[in-house]
Amino acid sequence: MPELPEVETVRRGLEPVMTGQIIRLAQVNRPDLRFTLPDRMAERLTGARVEQLRRRSKYILADLSTGETLLIHLGMSGRMLVSGVQLGAFHHDHPAPQKHDHVVFDMERGARVTFNDARRFGAMDLMPTAATDAHPLLASLGPEPLGNAFDEDYLFNRLKGRATPIKAALLDQRVVAGLGNIYVCEVLYRAGIDPRLLAGQIEEARLRQIVPLVREVLAEAIAAGGSSLRDYRQADGELGYFQHAFRVYDREGQPCSAPGCAGTIARVVQSGRSSYFCPGCQR
Ligand SMILES: [Zn+2]
Repeated sequence: MPELPEVETVRRGLEPVMTGQIIRLAQVNRPDLRFTLPDRMAERLTGARVEQLRRRSKYILADLSTGETLLIHLGMSGRMLVSGVQLGAFHHDHPAPQKHDHVVFDMERGARVTFNDARRFGAMDLMPTAATDAHPLLASLGPEPLGNAFDEDYLFNRLKGRATPIKAALLDQRVVAGLGNIYVCEVLYRAGIDPRLLAGQIEEARLRQIVPLVREVLAEAIAAGGSSLRDYRQADGELGYFQHAFRVYDREGQPCSAPGCAGTIARVVQSGRSSYFCPGCQR
């Protein structure tokens, strides 16, 4: 499932083929994805210029010249495929339509952007640009982890006294938007904090150090995505999936990589999600 860095990578990959360009033709091939698609979606998108592509949490927001904003959520298996443009050393012709190509945008300068989603947990919606913050999927989101509102004072005050494991507290989208299981595991490992500790029982200094580590882990992943982007686009025109070098995530039973630690990465299940951690480093 794509997390924030993957979504940011997709957004950056779409920028050169969408931003500032008119959607010459939008095709919508089914009435719904995870939710019903908006009324007359193809007509409302066809002829609109994409003024900017933003990201909020794991959602891509395309602000349009029509005063509406298109929300795109990749869900579990959604992919954005780019074809018909010069990408690095290779030229991609439009591939033959695939079974799960649900929404297709033909852009002004010849690129085709295809939303393909076999499992259809993805979503798209249209709303007035001025009302994006009130959209049901966005309204209750906490601050962006890479934004200024997410700082040490905010996190400490938000978690003070909370009798929730720190892992669950950081996954709570109302506390911070867009952090998922993988990156919370990696952050807590770098912070040396046991994921099972109750948030309200962690010393203030240890809670505060989570904030710069969140930024660090996400920034590294976004940088890795950026470097993989070109390779992926050259490979098959697909954006958004690549491997990161995780230190604990999905590494159960493997030795801890911290210098001087003889620990083994462990896994526990919390709220139905796997938490990976080093019992030696994280207390
Ligand atoms: Zn360790």
